[in-house]
Amino acid sequence: MIRSIQFTDLAAQQDRIRPQLDTAIARVLAHGAYIMGPEVAELEKRLAEFCGAAYCVTCSSGTDALSLVLMAKGIHAGDAVFAPSFTFAATAEAVALTGATPVFVDSLPGTFNMDPSSLEQAVATAKGRRLHPAAVIPVDLFGLPADYNSILPIAKTHGLWILCDAAQSFGGIYHGQKVGTLGLATATSFFPAKPLGCYGDGGAIFTDDKALCEMVQSLRVHGKGAEKYDNVRIGLNARLDTLQAAILLEKLAIFPDELKTRQRVADRYAAQLPPTFVVPQTPSGVHSAWAQYTIIADSDRHRTEAQAALKAAGVPTMVYYPKPLHRQTAYKHFLTATGGALPICENLSRRVFSLPLHPYLDDAAIDRIVSCLSDKTTRQKRISRDAAAP
Ligand SMILES: *Cc1c(COP(=O)(O)O)cnc(C)c1O
Repeated sequence: MIRSIQFTDLAAQQDRIRPQLDTAIARVLAHGAYIMGPEVAELEKRLAEFCGAAYCVTCSSGTDALSLVLMAKGIHAGDAVFAPSFTFAATAEAVALTGATPVFVDSLPGTFNMDPSSLEQAVATAKGRRLHPAAVIPVDLFGLPADYNSILPIAKTHGLWILCDAAQSFGGIYHGQKVGTLGLATATSFFPAKPLGCYGDGGAIFTDDKALCEMVQSLRVHGKGAEKYDNVRIGLNARLDTLQAAILLEKLAIFPDELKTRQRVADRYAAQLPPTFVVPQTPSGVHSAWAQYTIIADSDRHRTEAQAALKAAGVPTMVYYPKPLHRQTAYKHFLTATGGALPICENLSRRVFSLPLHPYLDDAAIDRIVSCLSDKTTRQKRISRDAAAP
């Protein structure tokens, strides 16, 4: 039987490490330390080693990882925090929950990441509204590290600290430096569909700043002081479960191999996709974790047709993201870099869609997907459509 093509194939991964997972889960059930058990500390040590950060603090989700850092740094009302509009809502949500103002920055059309010149403009716009420019959250969208070499000097000039939203990019590399070490702090997510995912919600924070690490550790457990029932600040309940840590330890063991396979899938797509679709740019020296393989169609009509052709062949696709955050009901009253429209991300949201990408996608499946998008099929459809037009 031919396995159907999955958008992300967690079942295939589970088949690969089933005995290890069973043993790890059984071990937690046997020792019974469900909260902050030994696997949590072990995982934090391994994750920090993996990326080269001095400290890792695991937590309950990628969203909480962002919130914990913003809380630890005392972000509050009157602060401006700069973030791309073309991202998942959690990036801006964590900012808004502190009372600070998210200021939305436009994206680069080639990499989908934050446009440094739009960031400059956003800082000026925030100052014009008497907001205090406090921090920037460059999101490593679809797994590709943002343009930190351009963002860093801008941040320095304006006194901004950097929180990397690496929810999609853990495992990525930026000019020899692993994701987790590129800002003052890095937040990642272990949501099941992320490149390194658990079997529920989970996340982690990376930093080289000891004071920040200790503050986040306190906030993670209700603002604890010397011990649990000593409450010195308002915090959250934001721990990672021991069971999830045990599962992540087993997944981390095969993660380097999975990253290589993700790269292989991306390379094959890039080599085979017809020129009617724009494939993602990866600047030299920058390695994506390939959370998503996102391509750009000519227009929203072209995208609809391509998605329909794939669907008819049993190939699932997704649109990340159909609406930029500055157009969302919950976020449209916040500020943008221009004070109005963000043309690049608005255009991208009408044209992008993501193809299946996971370490268990074989060449035959990739070729099948590509053939649905081949020049011939899509061109012929467009010709017949144009012929039918009045
Ligand atoms: C998934 C994601 C988050 C949130 O992570 P959760 O673990 O789901 O809370 C934040 N930012 C981005 C860019 C994401 O993709």
